[in-house]
Order: sequence, then structure tokens, then C-alpha cells
Amino acid sequence: MPATPPGTPCHYVTVTAPGQEIAGYLWADPADVGWTDRRASSVRAYREGEAWARRAREAHERGLTPLGVLHLLSREPGVGPVVAAPDREVVEELARMVTPDDDRRLLARLAPRDSGAWRELAEAFDALTDEDRDVKWGGGHQLPSGATHVAFPLYSKPLQRAVSALSGVGAVTPEHRWAGVPMPVPPREGQMLEPADAVRAATAIVRGERFCDGHIAESVKNGLFDAVAVCLRAWHASGRTAVPADAAPPTSEGPASDATACEATAVPATTAQVPAPSRPRRTPPPPAPVCRFCGGSPAADVTFRAHQALLVVMRFRKTAGPMCLTCGLAVYRTLTTYTLWQGWWSPFSLFLFAPFALVRNVLAVRHVRKLAAPGPGTSGPRYDPGVPVRRRPLAYVGLVPALWVVGMIVYGLAG
Ligand SMILES: [Zn+2]
Repeated sequence: MPATPPGTPCHYVTVTAPGQEIAGYLWADPADVGWTDRRASSVRAYREGEAWARRAREAHERGLTPLGVLHLLSREPGVGPVVAAPDREVVEELARMVTPDDDRRLLARLAPRDSGAWRELAEAFDALTDEDRDVKWGGGHQLPSGATHVAFPLYSKPLQRAVSALSGVGAVTPEHRWAGVPMPVPPREGQMLEPADAVRAATAIVRGERFCDGHIAESVKNGLFDAVAVCLRAWHASGRTAVPADAAPPTSEGPASDATACEATAVPATTAQVPAPSRPRRTPPPPAPVCRFCGGSPAADVTFRAHQALLVVMRFRKTAGPMCLTCGLAVYRTLTTYTLWQGWWSPFSLFLFAPFALVRNVLAVRHVRKLAAPGPGTSGPRYDPGVPVRRRPLAYVGLVPALWVVGMIVYGLAG
């Protein structure tokens, strides 16, 4: 991550993975281009994001400006328009977004309702005593060699059984990337976790223990461990089954029935939980188009064509996309002159393809000529429009076949 001062304006594009899930955001500030993945996204979307990050990096290393990279990639399927933001914190804020689909995806990985794992979860937690919950620590003493034995928690067998039971019901899942978000906090007195947040907490507790001894002991002490089990058992008892996120309708607003299942116990379900709260998705306003060559604006979306015909060989060229006045005129003049010079030398081309290209170009350039002079470019060199077509000698090659056709007609009439 580059050391850009806070408050530096930036641009970003929203990248959507297959299945309409927002994978993350490609951003560009004046110095660099980078990728911020959405913390609650699926593993699949996360992997997609790595590929986008790599592409952005490579494009930047090839010499494109950071903003030029965004404009280039924004033409790809699944990538939204380029949006300006006051600073990178806006992107970070978006990346913390948690959607109802994210919740549904976690719940869909829980064991089926009739699985014995749910009974095991209930029995394992019911069997826990105060002694089991009062975790003692071993180690910490001086060894004969002089070294200090590292301290470690002594989990009782019943507590270990309860931990295993959480995994058994599927509440410990790779779909929650726990390391990227703050450690969950226990719900307040009289409140209950959201079911999806219970899965997030279970994952963070159990997987976190592998990296740092004492995660489980801490969660048992502060009540989070039991709160997870209470919520999961209530969710299971309510009889709801989660619709897999992939099969759910692509709505992103409004309450998700499964995500609020624990409210069946008439306890307010809001907690100060793991990541930022769910918010409706923001739809960024569509930005004005910018020139595909220089990044300047205003720009018009146009297509210019060229045709080449050499007896039996024919070539069709097309250059399309938003273009500013300067770049648009340059492309128009180049491709039109090329067609007037090389477009005539086969019968089909003479009567069909070359006139077609020329007429389409004249229609397209009218859109470009209406534009004001472009502002400063951001993504590359601006083309030199050069002199008008009528002042380019090669354009008059087109008169040869035209005169020849006229001559043949006159000859035919006279004959
Ligand atoms: Zn341009």
C-alpha cells in the first residue's frame, strides 16, 4: 500500500464477480493503483480479486497512469464506471460493507437441520460446567536450562468437545476471512448475536486459536463462546434453513429472513458485532465518458471505420469508444484517408464497402465535432489530428476509380 497522505483524492471502480457479488474495488491515486477486497466477500470472489489486482499492477508497470489503468479495465465485463472519491477512506468504507447475501452464504454452509451435529452441539454445551469455563494456564515456569516455558491454556475435555461441536455444525468456515476483520465482541446483556455473526465469531475463535493460544479461553471468559452456541441453537430450533447465497434472488436491500432468524426469541438482535453493519449498496452515479485514448473529456461514444481492398484481399478496421474532439478528429481523418486511398480496389469494395465506411465516418464525426475542446488528458498521449482530409494527397486516389466508373457509364450510354 503506498504512503499517500490522507485526504488525497482518488478514483475507483467496483468489480463484480460472477453471481453479481461485489468482489472489491480497484483504486487509483496520483501515485499508484491498487486493489481493496470486500472483507465479507466469498472465497471465490476473493480469488477473482487477486487476478484483477494482478492485471491492474501489470498495466501500471507497462506505463499506463493509475487513472489510465482504471479507464482501461472499466471496459471489461463486471467492472463498473470510474468514480471519483475524496480519498481512499471512501473505498475502505465500501470494502467493509456486509450484505444480506453474505449472511446467507455463511448460513448455507451450516449442517442440515436433521444432522446429528446439532444434537452434539446442544449436548456438548449443556455438559459444560463452571470448572470447564474457568480455563487454567500451564507452563510459564523456568526450565532447568534457564529458558522460560511458554504459557498455554489447559482446555478440559468437555470444553474441547464443545469446540469440536462448533466445527461439526459447520460454524467454522473458510468462507469467513476472520483475519481481515476485528475480533468479534460478545453481545451485551439481554441481546443475541445475529446467526451469521455467530458463524463469524465461531470461525474467528476456533481458527484464531491456531495462531495464538488463548482465543478460546478469552471468548469463554467474556461470554462470546456461549453466546455463539445460544444463537446457533436458537437458529436451528427455529427451523429456518438458509437459501444458498448463489440461489437467492439478487436483492441487496431490506431484511434477510434468515439473517434475522434469532429474533424469533423476541430478543433485540442488534449487537456491536464483527465488521461494519450491513448497509444498502451504494450505486455510484455514472460518470461522464472520457476519451479512450487520452482520458480527456468531454468525449462522445463513436465508431470510425476503414476499408482496404486489394483485388481479392479485403480488410475491415474499426476503432470504437468514447473519443474527445482532438483524438476523434485524428482517428476520423486517418481512417477516412486510408479508405479513400486503399478502399477501392475490388468490385465489392468499390460499390459497397468503401462507400459504407466513408458515409458511416462522416456521420460519426458529426458527434465528435459538436464537443468542446477537451480538458487535460489523464491516461495517455493525445493524437494529433493533423490536416483535414481534403488537404491529404492520398485522399484523391479515390478519384481514380470514381472517374473510371463515371467514364464507363458515359461510354456505356454513348455506346
Ligand atoms: Zn482524446
